[in-house]
Amino acid sequence: MTQHTVVVGAGIVGVCSALSLATAGQRVTLIDRQGPGEGASFGNASILATWAVVPVQTPGILWRVPKMLLDPLGPLAIRWRYLPKLAPWLLRFLAESTTARVEALSISLGELMKGAVDAFNPLLEAAGAKGMIQRAGKIEVFETEKGFHALKPIMDIERRRGVRIEELDVHELRQLEPGLAPLFVRALFYPDVAHVVDNYRLVQVLAEAVVRHGGAVVKADVRGFEVGPDGPRAVLTDAGSHPCDHVVIAAGAWSKPLAAKLGSAVPLDTERGYHVHLPTPGVLLRHPVHSSERAVAMTPLETGIRLAGTVELGGLDAPPDWRRADILLKSARPWLPGLETAGMTRWMGFRPSMPDSLPVISRSPVHKNVLFAFGHGHVGLTLAARTGKIVADMAAGRDPGIDLRPYRVDRF
Ligand SMILES: Cc1cc2nc3c(=O)[nH]c(=O)nc-3n(C[C@H](O)[C@H](O)[C@H](O)COP(=O)(O)OP(=O)(O)OC[C@H]3O[C@@H](n4cnc5c(N)ncnc54)[C@H](O)[C@@H]3O)c2cc1C
Repeated sequence: MTQHTVVVGAGIVGVCSALSLATAGQRVTLIDRQGPGEGASFGNASILATWAVVPVQTPGILWRVPKMLLDPLGPLAIRWRYLPKLAPWLLRFLAESTTARVEALSISLGELMKGAVDAFNPLLEAAGAKGMIQRAGKIEVFETEKGFHALKPIMDIERRRGVRIEELDVHELRQLEPGLAPLFVRALFYPDVAHVVDNYRLVQVLAEAVVRHGGAVVKADVRGFEVGPDGPRAVLTDAGSHPCDHVVIAAGAWSKPLAAKLGSAVPLDTERGYHVHLPTPGVLLRHPVHSSERAVAMTPLETGIRLAGTVELGGLDAPPDWRRADILLKSARPWLPGLETAGMTRWMGFRPSMPDSLPVISRSPVHKNVLFAFGHGHVGLTLAARTGKIVADMAAGRDPGIDLRPYRVDRF
């Protein structure tokens, strides 16, 4: 008999999991309290950031904590009021920043990055949306020599993990991206990086494909589970219950209470990020351009130019600090002369973040019919298709072809 899997959360991770399951012949119900893609997956920088194999917590980050607390507008900021709640997560985050841990974690991130872009191919094919990924590469720009040298240890790890990085001189930068002002002293090109032409539309088309493959997309708030002797047998929502053989928890930054209801305590928190979207920018950008000095990415989407980035440790409840979005625009304005802001929109989203910067992709140690797929932090879009494939393999009892121990839900 066909197995019925309920996937909780229709962000990019849940939708890729649902479509992988549906195309493998499973009956799938995808439940979200909002529409598909309205969580963190709505407003990210839309980059398939395969270079991002270095965790957020790099060696020496401990000494930056006072600045994070004192500068609410810095690239990485901590909200004072949230500090008491954040403290256990923050201590683990800092403990994961030793040179040895960062090297080990980069290997685990690198393993997931392998084939991450290609993993989208079968999903895009199933959705009839093959043109949505562009393999244009990414440009990293530096306004100062200091910024370039600060990134060197990270580049060294990236290179050790096989990331291809080319140094560009000012002339080559101008040829690749003529719309940029001549303000940069250094630039790098990452030829293997791709981007999605519209990250939100991607979630929509994949969710539609789930339905075309016999699945259902339901708008409801998941409140709990009916647990029998063999694990959960129904998912309970504010609009009724859904019997299930398997459950996948892919609820992004909101996964913690759901995992707890299923017997797994996870140190999941959120790194809030912002975007400014410019629908009629009036300037041409050919590649995603990123500045690590300012933690800002600029991505050319089919709907305009998106400026996105920065990290704010402030929990799920505090209102947005729109000054952080305004800083993105302030950074980008001089870089892109003539940038038009008509129709501009601002957004804040919740990256689902584990203290070691690795996602949870794991079978529950408590219930064998529960799978967890959350906590992808800065790289949830990048790793979504790969995660979905692993989830479908685990559900079917197939070998996922990767050692999943580093991503276990009970690793802390
Ligand atoms: C500014 C910014 C820029 C970023 N840039 C990039 C980038 O360029 N590349 C990249 O790879 N990643 C990027 N990210 C990270 C990426 O956006 C996330 O990692 C990813 O979107 C997480 O996807 P998700 O499906 O796990 O979570 P989400 O997209 O947040 O989806 C979770 C879903 O679960 C639903 N849900 C939660 N609880 C319940 C419940 N109880 N009942 C029903 N539904 C529920 C929510 O409504 C939501 O739709 C960026 C993030 C930010 C904030």
